Amino acid sequence: VRISLEFASSHTTLHRARLGYAFSLYCAIYGHEPIPDAMQASSADLCISYNDSSISRMTGTLRLSDRYRTRSPKLAAPRPERFEREAEITWLFYSPAPGFEPDWLAEIFEWVSCADEYSITERDGAGRVPFSASYIGRHKLDPRIPYAAVAMRFLQRAICRLVPGCAEEPKCPDSTVRHFVVNTHDVDFLPVSRVSSLHRLLKNSVISLLERSPGLATRQFMRAISVSIGGSNVLDQMPALLEGQAERQIGASYYFICAKGHRRDANYDVHDAHVIDIMRSLELAQKEVGVHGSYRSLEVPSGLATEFDTLRRVGFYPVGGRQHWLRFTLEGLIPALEGAGATYDASLGWSNTIGFRAGACFAFPPYDFEREHAVSFLEIPLAIMDRCLWDERNSYEAVAKLLAVSRKYAWGGASMLWHPTAFKEGQFPERIGQVYWRLADARHEQQDTWVSAATFVSRVWRRYADAGLLPGRESTHAVC
Ligand SMILES: [Zn+2]
Repeated sequence: VRISLEFASSHTTLHRARLGYAFSLYCAIYGHEPIPDAMQASSADLCISYNDSSISRMTGTLRLSDRYRTRSPKLAAPRPERFEREAEITWLFYSPAPGFEPDWLAEIFEWVSCADEYSITERDGAGRVPFSASYIGRHKLDPRIPYAAVAMRFLQRAICRLVPGCAEEPKCPDSTVRHFVVNTHDVDFLPVSRVSSLHRLLKNSVISLLERSPGLATRQFMRAISVSIGGSNVLDQMPALLEGQAERQIGASYYFICAKGHRRDANYDVHDAHVIDIMRSLELAQKEVGVHGSYRSLEVPSGLATEFDTLRRVGFYPVGGRQHWLRFTLEGLIPALEGAGATYDASLGWSNTIGFRAGACFAFPPYDFEREHAVSFLEIPLAIMDRCLWDERNSYEAVAKLLAVSRKYAWGGASMLWHPTAFKEGQFPERIGQVYWRLADARHEQQDTWVSAATFVSRVWRRYADAGLLPGRESTHAVC
């Protein structure tokens, strides 16, 4: 559908930039053609309008409530209000004007821009925005609902009522794919020495005790003893992981920590020949090698860019990655990624709950409040992390249901994270590793396509570029 957007004459440049961004993103996800030029508006199939005096035209016009009010991101977002239509319930930032559609573009903008998150000054022990302080946490919303995608769906239905033959479902840019799952692994630890494996297993044993799994803690303790006297190393799971992925022909990204500025950083050094060999073997297996931004990588302006350069200097072509410990704030992360020349990031998620931090089960270029513009890389939100499955409520069924929700609302592009040490009880209960393989084995039945982040980006970039959200060509070197 060719859609134009008409603002009210009272709308400022800032107002237009923000809702224009939401409009372009909606068009990118649904495969519509946005008509940016008012001069060509008459050629559109439909006009989304905020204009009171909008005269009737040949094409249909969908009037949205004019409810958005520009706000500094230092101020919290309005409280959520319940909205129900045709048995579907959601929460709105702005209540609709009587008799009009809600301001769906404003709803999409508030979620995807994460505007509210900039207003939060509270930090947890690792310097992160705590989930409990987030908009979803504060207002007891459900992180497993992709509210931005829900808003897009309501908007699409309103459009379908005006444009006969309009498809209700979003259209994937790759016609061979129903739903992308971006499969990623943060390499926090490598079994480079017996001493470090012993140390890590003892640490994992203590964590298991704290997680009230004394049986697991005991087994990890025994394995630590075994490793120290020359036994097999349960933390050495990468070969089995690669083999399982090869058998199933699934793509994956592996992110390596390239700096050691904190005790929480990796136990390995990417300059070591042994580590370079591991990364080479991943590339040979057609896996992506990317950057796991170190614990302190955002504390100096060029920190993350230097880490990308470190990986380039040892012979690799990183195009993106994820922050270690998810230690970031958006105002720090966005310029750092642009400075590093990244084409994507996969950090936007929570470390203690599964779900959609930006209300998005799809990828999007984040909004930069400094320039009031979309940034030049794609965010691949992190929806599922292995350690969240310590909580037994996050069973296989719960995780599969989250993917089903993502599939229901769009064509995917969120990421999953299993650490290579997550299997065979080295770090977590065995069931957590098993969930990964069950999901992998159910992928055909569920119509999921598992790919590396770089592959995903190369296959969908054009769609966002065509909607005016990203530059024309992504600078991907390595595609796997
Ligand atoms: Zn990490």
